[in-house]
Amino acid sequence: MGIAEQPGSTPATDEVEVLDALIIGGGVSGIYQLYGLRKIGVNARIFEAGGGVGGTWYWNRYPGARFDSESYSYAYSFSDELLKEWNWTEHYSAQPENERYLNFVVDKFNLRPHIRCNSRIKSAQFDASTNQWLVETHEGHRARTQFLISAVGILSAHQLPDIPGVERFGGRSFHTARWPHEKVDFSGKRVGVIGSGATAVQLIPRIAGEVGHLTVFQRTANYCCPLRNATIDPDTQQQIKDSYDEIFAKCRSTFASFMQDFDPRKTFDVPLAERQAFYEEIWSQPGFTKWFGCFYDIMTDEAANEDYAEFVRNKIRARVNDPVIAEMLVPKDHPFGSKRIPLETNYYEVYNQDNVLLVDVKSTPITEITATGVTVGDTHYPLDVIIYATGFDAITGELTRMDIRGEGGQSLKAKWDLEGPSSYLTLQTAGFPNLFIVNGAVFCNFTRCAEVVGDWVRECVGYMRDHGYTRIEAEQTAEDAWTEHASSLTEGMLFTKTKSWFMGTNIPGKKRGFLFYAGGAPAFRDKVAEVAAKDYEGFILK
Ligand code: NAP
Repeated sequence: MGIAEQPGSTPATDEVEVLDALIIGGGVSGIYQLYGLRKIGVNARIFEAGGGVGGTWYWNRYPGARFDSESYSYAYSFSDELLKEWNWTEHYSAQPENERYLNFVVDKFNLRPHIRCNSRIKSAQFDASTNQWLVETHEGHRARTQFLISAVGILSAHQLPDIPGVERFGGRSFHTARWPHEKVDFSGKRVGVIGSGATAVQLIPRIAGEVGHLTVFQRTANYCCPLRNATIDPDTQQQIKDSYDEIFAKCRSTFASFMQDFDPRKTFDVPLAERQAFYEEIWSQPGFTKWFGCFYDIMTDEAANEDYAEFVRNKIRARVNDPVIAEMLVPKDHPFGSKRIPLETNYYEVYNQDNVLLVDVKSTPITEITATGVTVGDTHYPLDVIIYATGFDAITGELTRMDIRGEGGQSLKAKWDLEGPSSYLTLQTAGFPNLFIVNGAVFCNFTRCAEVVGDWVRECVGYMRDHGYTRIEAEQTAEDAWTEHASSLTEGMLFTKTKSWFMGTNIPGKKRGFLFYAGGAPAFRDKVAEVAAKDYEGFILK
């Protein structure tokens, strides 16, 4: 879809599909939820906005898009047969393979007949007389369902920047999350990339060699760390398959369900020379080891963080030939890891190329987009293509862009605009009965927690069926206590001192607050299991 295009609306027909559960979104969490619910005989169906399944891995098809967690730590764990059958070709697999994998899962478990694509939800209204949701898509399809399950992911509502003239540009332009399905020919073109987050950092090295000229408009420099990807040879493939139990056990044991965990020592308890050797050691490792494998206190102690941040800055400086450009690429305005760390392959070397220009748009912000390019202050940059790698209205954005109305017609957007994304256990929000939110609002390796939450919802639906309940709703007091608990966990965390999508501060007017549950995946798992074991304590069942 081009940037100016929005999903169109067509008049509703009289036909209403009747379901037990309507799952919004056919990505990682939606597919798993569908599998689980159908397994226990629930008439569940996915409504997916895209033309195919895959969610993030359907939409984000820009060159360079790939996993940042190991393919095998991100994969589903629920089926031994699937684990044995599927061969990941790279340690950090790229988008085409990830999309193929999710399609393979859908076909292997015969889920495709239960997925309705090209169906973007426009509105959902709770009908208290039947305890059902009435749902309508932008395409005019209508459904009535007992359970409405939001599996829209955390990074789905793509965000164009608030810059005058975005719609005026005469060349090609697209957001990275709406990348064309056909190959884009950049040869000889003057291309501008706005943004320098994890997406831009994956994309830029992939197109820098192909474009005629590349201009990167950078507002905030990031601490990008080398991914160190590699293909998986047959012996390693076998080793991975033989050790899936250990891989998933390891993920279960760590704070964020990644294979890496923080080092329990405090930074300054370790002598300088040993500390430097430790930093070098984690730096040489693939993936997120340079973040989640570091001393634990870098996430809370500014001095400890600064010690490691300076090590990372020097790594960046060493890769960029021009010291002035190097300093522009070195982050100095936020602590390491307080924003999502981008993982990169040959990113910094791009700035040694003659056909690449880095423009600082922090000191002078982008003034406007014109028909012919981007203007920053008095300087106009003529361009043939503009790529918006400008991020997402994370976690809540996709849901609040729908018109969701709970008990008494109250709007979810209005509730969250006022209170922030308050919830009970991230799973429900008071006033919206039978609406489960399985988006992944836990700071966690996505699939690991998608399985936890998917299992929890499946068991809850089964429990309700077995006990003759038709309605479940979070108690307001339970929600308040959970929200307070979740908020108290972020005290002292350096995340909260930085502007980023983690805090909702990338979206004008969005209420500020850490959008994830920050207590760690093990604590989250224990809590939701305890609530279920206590007959869904904190929920009102009727
Ligand atoms: P992002 O991290 O939010 O980055 C958006 C970029 O656009 C930032 O550099 C931001 O600058 C810039 N920007 C926004 N508005 C601007 C404006 N008006 N003028 C100039 N610059 C502007 O978004 P993202 O890179 O798409 O990444 C989002 C998340 O997606 C990541 O953090 C990650 O969790 C996920 N992701 C995952 C993978 C993976 O796992 N493989 C890959 C890519 C992305 P500021 O920083 O100054 O706001």
